[in-house]
Order: sequence, then structure tokens, then C-alpha cells
Amino acid sequence: MERIILVSNRLPVTVEKRKGDLQYHHSAGGLATGLDSVYNKGNTLWIGWPGINHENVSSEEKMQIQEKLAQRNCAPVFLSRENIDKYYNGFSNKTIWPLFHYFPQYANFDADYWNSYVNVNHKFAAIIMQNIKAGDTVWIHDYQLMLLPALLREKIADITIGFFLHIPFPSFEIFRLLPWRKQILEGLLGADLIGFHTFEYIRHFLNSSRRILGCEVSFTQITYQNRLIMADVFPMGIDYERFHNATSHPDVRKEEISIREKTGNTSLILSIDRLDYTKGVVQRLEAYDLLLTKYPQLKEKVTLILVEVPSRASVDSYRKLKRQIDELIGRINGKYGVIGWAPVLNMYRSIPFSTLVALYYACDIALVTPLRDGMNLVAKEFVASKNNRPGVLILSEMAGAAREMGEALIVNPNNLDEMAEAIQTALQMSPEEQMSRLKVMQNRLIRYDVKRWASDFLMKLKQAGNQRIQIQAEKLSLSQRNELIAKVAKSRRTLLLLDYDGTIVPIMDHPDKAIPDSEITSILQRLQDVKNYTVAIVSGRDKDFMEKYFGDTNLTLCAEHGVWIKQPQENWHTVNFIQNTWKNNLKPILELYADRTPGAVLEEKNYSLAFHFRNADPELASIRVRELTESLIHQVSNLNLCVMEGKKVIEIKNAGINKGNFAMKQIEKGDYDLVIAIGDDVTDEDLFASLPENAFSIKVGIGSSKAKYFLDSVYQVRELLKQLSVLHTSDQLVERTG
Ligand code: UDP
Repeated sequence: MERIILVSNRLPVTVEKRKGDLQYHHSAGGLATGLDSVYNKGNTLWIGWPGINHENVSSEEKMQIQEKLAQRNCAPVFLSRENIDKYYNGFSNKTIWPLFHYFPQYANFDADYWNSYVNVNHKFAAIIMQNIKAGDTVWIHDYQLMLLPALLREKIADITIGFFLHIPFPSFEIFRLLPWRKQILEGLLGADLIGFHTFEYIRHFLNSSRRILGCEVSFTQITYQNRLIMADVFPMGIDYERFHNATSHPDVRKEEISIREKTGNTSLILSIDRLDYTKGVVQRLEAYDLLLTKYPQLKEKVTLILVEVPSRASVDSYRKLKRQIDELIGRINGKYGVIGWAPVLNMYRSIPFSTLVALYYACDIALVTPLRDGMNLVAKEFVASKNNRPGVLILSEMAGAAREMGEALIVNPNNLDEMAEAIQTALQMSPEEQMSRLKVMQNRLIRYDVKRWASDFLMKLKQAGNQRIQIQAEKLSLSQRNELIAKVAKSRRTLLLLDYDGTIVPIMDHPDKAIPDSEITSILQRLQDVKNYTVAIVSGRDKDFMEKYFGDTNLTLCAEHGVWIKQPQENWHTVNFIQNTWKNNLKPILELYADRTPGAVLEEKNYSLAFHFRNADPELASIRVRELTESLIHQVSNLNLCVMEGKKVIEIKNAGINKGNFAMKQIEKGDYDLVIAIGDDVTDEDLFASLPENAFSIKVGIGSSKAKYFLDSVYQVRELLKQLSVLHTSDQLVERTG
């Protein structure tokens, strides 16, 4: 079995030094539990921070830690106090955490934090490189390590890398606030597969990738730097059996009875979270306050058990929140409490598993109302722990879990009245209805538990890796290139059909900037000097452009996808008599669309109209293109026109004119024993489709194509053309006169 390298900020084992002795404990937290099923299967290596500062251990102790952790299939990344302060408490928890949870007011954009984040991601990459073996798959976790996928990809191109984001990915309008947004996206896009909890987070991520990096996005697949990256939804589940079965354990039963005894005959409402401003505890308490005001009959009839698990206590905003919550609890207990009944029972500590399950089992209602939460496991654990017991889950619509738990009472965590009413509804709900809602959610949690989550991700990651290998295999290999060169060397007459934009000249942000440079001019010059070759530039550009840059060469020119043709030493001519009176009718429609789409431009060619939207808002452009195509459908069929979609352009022209028809006529005319065609665009597919079986067709870039081979870039095309230009000996060169 292939080895899986798991990478996360924390290792599942924490190292501590007590009275000079090194001690090893199991780390608390969802991720360690979540990945248990993968980790315990063997053939894994887990890389992460062992929880002890670099300064607190000597070199010998580090060796000792390394050896001890190796026995548990772990490898440590040692971090200094400063690293932890700036990379972890700083950039991860004071920049990314608030921003990705829609709290930009708490986000600290500190360059020092950012530099430390970069630095620590490099440290992780270095440790992975020391440990990695051929065939390993790497699965990286969470927001502390978003640069790592690209750092690894730079070092080993053919490695399978997965990334899972455990927190929300915010909308573009929030994400764009981040000064280092580009680097973060580039970092993530080093992966083959990026997993999220909900489809909403994927949408936000795709949107940001498209707007910030200009990536091509099709469904949930991203094309970036000649690689395909998949994004997919994997809603993290829990270890259902563990929670469900624990309720029968004598310790849990004992604790449950004790909780019941201490809270008298009241209905119990449970609130458990890490103390974090994203969890909405203040609003929750205010809603409870409102409930007791609106329904005074509930006094002495309900108890809110509020468990706050200490978290990030060194961060200022967390300390302030703790004070605010304490004050609110004091106010509510003071306002409504009587001797023998406190409306809120409060615990500020981490609680053992048996107490946690006893609370889930004992409480009638779970109030899980985060203002924003990637998933929220407490909601799922509460439902799983209701072993033949009624209970109502009140869940915030802002938690990822709400997407899967529609049978809960779903609330807006900012709407105090709605939350108070939901509690009242829950208190009055019949046990039968409670059981039936729980059953549906439980069945879902059983089916998609944490094991399934991990195995699903790894299965999809394998597919993504295979896809990368397949794309790699289709690229023109060295031996295929040599075979091509040998054929060309033997051929008497070779026809070279070359597309222009994106094939021999790189695409620019504006077509006027994409003009031939000295390198391509000299390559083309040398190619036409070889008498065995006929070289044709087959372009969508208009005749004037082609004339301006190639008019005085010996190249065959095909402009506007085949409307205009110029053979060497001849004048331009059109193949057929082509109608273009339709342009006057359609131009106003296209102009209107261009005016209503900022950044889009209309180009009028002799026999076609092109609507370019490279510089327009991508989402608006895709809507406009759809509308435009629909509104043109009638005119197009009546006038024998066609709408051609290219890269960020749609073009309307007479049907039957395409690069393929030009190629067929050109091939018929000459006595070619070899044809080579190179192109990058959708319009080049007509060209590839028209070629004889033994032709060499090459697409620049990846994606589905009729071409037989792929090359990565314009640069690689030029390298190939250079090789072809020096193939034939000088006695075969065309006699040039004058
Ligand atoms: N939890 C814990 N210690 C406690 C109370 C709860 O480890 O004292 C666990 C709880 O069982 C759950 C996790 O903490 O699995 C909280 O996960 P959640 O997704 O709800 O929120 P997060 O803290 O990850 O934002």
C-alpha cells in the first residue's frame, strides 16, 4: 500500500517537559480523532509541531523526541517561541482565523506575522522533503499550512498532494481584503485536490481563484499553470459509534444521573464551545435572557449549562470576550435567579470525554449557534449521543453542519427573538417528533462518519493524482519529439500549420500587446528558408494585422479563421463569395452588450464580429455570453452564421468558414508527406479534426482536445520550431534572390 504523509500544525502526540522529564500525551482535538482511522491503519507518517518550544529542548533531547515519535510514525517540526507567537498566534489566529470567519475587524495585517508564516511553511516543506519517498501521497490540513502545497510542488512536480480546509473559505469580498491573497491562492493551488466542508466554500474559493489569479474554472475544476486542480465537498463527520455507544457506559450513566440530580426537575439546555468570538455565545446568552423575559413561567423550569473550553487565552480579543461572557452570566443569574435555582450554570474548563457524553445524553436541548463555523462537530456529537432518548438540536444556519442537518431547528444566530422562540418551540416539541427528527439526522451521520470522510477524500485524491499522471503521459515526450524530428528530416514536403495567439506568441491582457517579438520572427524566418517546408500562420486575427506583421514574408497566411488567405508572393483573396451585410444588423446588439459589460470590447473584422471579455468581470461575462448566445440564436440560423467560442471571446461569422476548411484545401493543393499542426484554442479543434491520420497535432496547454499531443507553453513550441528550423542542410535552403 502507498504511504500517506499526514501534515498538520499539531502532531497527534504532544511532548511536554515536566520537572526535566519529557512526557508524551495524546493531543486533544478533532483532527487527531478524525484522522485516527487513516493514521492507525499503518503505513502513514504524520508530520507536525510536537507542542514544545524549540528553546525548551537540548539537541540531545530533540534526537530523543525524534526517535520516540518515529516509533509512533510521527516526525516533528520544531518551532521556536517566536514562530509560535507570530506564525500560529499571529498570522494563523489573528489574521486568517478572524478574516475567514467574517470578522475583518479583528484581522491583523502584520507583515511580520506574514513573514513568519512563510518561514514556518518552508520549515514544514523541508521536513517533508527529508522524509518523503517515491510514491508517497501527501495530505495537508488546514489554514496554518496554506502555502505548503505549492512549496512541495516546486520541489517535486509529480507528487500527489491533497489539502483540506477545516474552516470556512470566505466570500471574495472578504478574502480580497488580505494583502497576501495572491500568495495564499497560489499556495493552495499547488495541490491536486482541495477539500472543503460545504459547496458554498468551494464557490467562494473558485470565485477568488478566477478573479485574483485569472484561473480558468469549469465546474469544480481549476486550470492553473498547465495543471488541473480539483475542488470538492467532504463534510467532515464524527466517530458516531464512539459517542452513541459511550452512553451505555456505567461511568457516563453515573455522571448523567448526577447532572440530573444537581439541576432538579428543570429542562436542560446545553451550550458547549471553545471560548471563541465566532461561537456567538454573547448572542446566545442574550437570547436566553429574552426567553426568560418573554416567558416568565419558565423560571425555575429551565437551566442553561454553559461549558466554555479555554482557548487562545493569550490573544487579546479572547480575554475581552471571557470578561463579557462572565458579566452577562452574572447579570442573568442576578436578574432571574432564586435560592436553589440559577438560570445559567457555568464551567470554564476542558471536560473529560465521559462528562461530555453525559452532558449530551442528559440535556434536552443543544443550543449550537455560532456566528460562523466551518462545520461544528458539537452539533453532530449531540445528535449521535441521543441513544434512544429525545432531544432537540437548535443550530445556526452559519455553521457548515446546517447543510446536512435540516431536521434541526435552524436559526439566524444574530436574531435574538428567533433564537428565543426556537428554544420555546423545542421545549414544547413532542418526544415523538424529537425522536423522528433525530433518527433522520442519525442515519445520515452513520452513513457519512469520519472514516468515510477520510476514505472518500483519499479515494478522490487518488483519482486526482491519476489524472495528473495521465495528462503528463499525453505530453509530447522526448522519444515522441525525436520520432517527429526524424520524420521531418526524412520528409520531402512538410506542411506546418501554426496558430498565432497562445501558440507562437503568448496571450496578453490586450490583443494589441501580443505582437511578434524578435525571437519568433527569426524562428519563422529560418523555417521559411527551408525549401522542404510550407509554413502557414492560421489565425483568427484580421487581415490587416496579418498583413502588417507578416505581409512581406514567404509565409502562407490565413486570417479571420479562413475568410482571407494569402499565399507567398500573391495577394490576399477570399475563398468564396461571403455575405457580410448581416454585420450591420447584429453590430448594435453586440455593442449594447459590450457597453453593459465593463471591460468587454467589440472587435469588427471584415467578415466577423468578435466580443472579447478577457478584461471583464468573469461572472458577469459568463452571464452576458449566455444571454448573447441565446439572443443571437434566431438570427444565426436564418443567416447561415455560426457563433464560435474561443478563449475569452465569442465570434460570429459565416458558417462553414473555419481553420479546418482552410487546412483541408491547403493539404489538397500541395504534395505533402507530413503535416504538423499546433494550436491552443477552441477554434484550433477544427484544424486538428481536419488532419489526415498520420499528421502530428499538438495542443498548447491542457484540457480536452482532438490533438494527439500536448506541450506546456509557447516557450516549448518555440523550442520545437527551433529544432525543426535547423534540420535540413544548407544545400536544401531556398535560393534567395535580391
Ligand atoms: N471538546 C473537547 N474538549 C472539551 C469539550 C469539547 O475536545 O472540553 C471537543 C468536542 O467534542 C468537539 C470539539 O471539541 O469534537 C469542538 O469541535 P467544533 O467543530 O464544534 O468546534 P472547533 O473548536 O473546532 O471550532
